[in-house]
Amino acid sequence: MRDAAMRALVEAYPEAIERVQDDIVHFRDGRRLAFGVGGDKSAEARLAAPEIADMFAIPYPLETGAIPGADRDPGRARNALFFEHLYGDCRKADFAKSLVDVVWLPKKSGVRIKVSRRNGVADRLAAVSRELDDLPDAMTQFLAPPAGGFHCRAIAGTDRMSGHGYGIAVDIATRHAHYWRWPMPKAGAALTYRNAIPKEIVTIFEKHGFIWGGKWYHYDTMHFEFRPELLIAARLLQP
Ligand SMILES: [Zn+2]
Repeated sequence: MRDAAMRALVEAYPEAIERVQDDIVHFRDGRRLAFGVGGDKSAEARLAAPEIADMFAIPYPLETGAIPGADRDPGRARNALFFEHLYGDCRKADFAKSLVDVVWLPKKSGVRIKVSRRNGVADRLAAVSRELDDLPDAMTQFLAPPAGGFHCRAIAGTDRMSGHGYGIAVDIATRHAHYWRWPMPKAGAALTYRNAIPKEIVTIFEKHGFIWGGKWYHYDTMHFEFRPELLIAARLLQP
């Protein structure tokens, strides 16, 4: 698992990461971060202050359609320093330079979505957008109008930066979306999974390095996020 995760980091972010050696992630600009110890932790601890190793603790499922088990949220833990090294800090003035517009479904929508141009995010999202645009018209209701890309904000109910704050996430249309907080679950109560987003859409995003929030126990079915390291690690670990 550790070896696959380290290999996946180097494969996923060649622009930013030079190598992982002796449990240290070496960035091309000379910065370094500890990969971390990982191991058994509560879901809360993993989300609150994840080491890089913790981000791989729950493998991302490559198959689509299973209902996520309790607290299975692959990709929801983000090491803030790691993502700041990759994309910058949106609370700083020069962050805007890293953003670029991607035209969402050029034929069927044409709305512009702001995302990072670093680590190939914008190019990959443009490729996703073109492929989604070629899906049958019945799919457009799930995709447009999109609910947005870059947004410098913490995740609702937390002080942790959202994937949107790094410019790596996009929300498709809200019309058929489900989000675990919307039914206002009582603290500690089991969540009832809901999803209406067709598999074809998920497959196209995943092909280009985006994971889907519909594979989280804390589901967010309109949310897609550029996390190629999780998809690569999952493929490396396939039997
Ligand atoms: Zn989102």
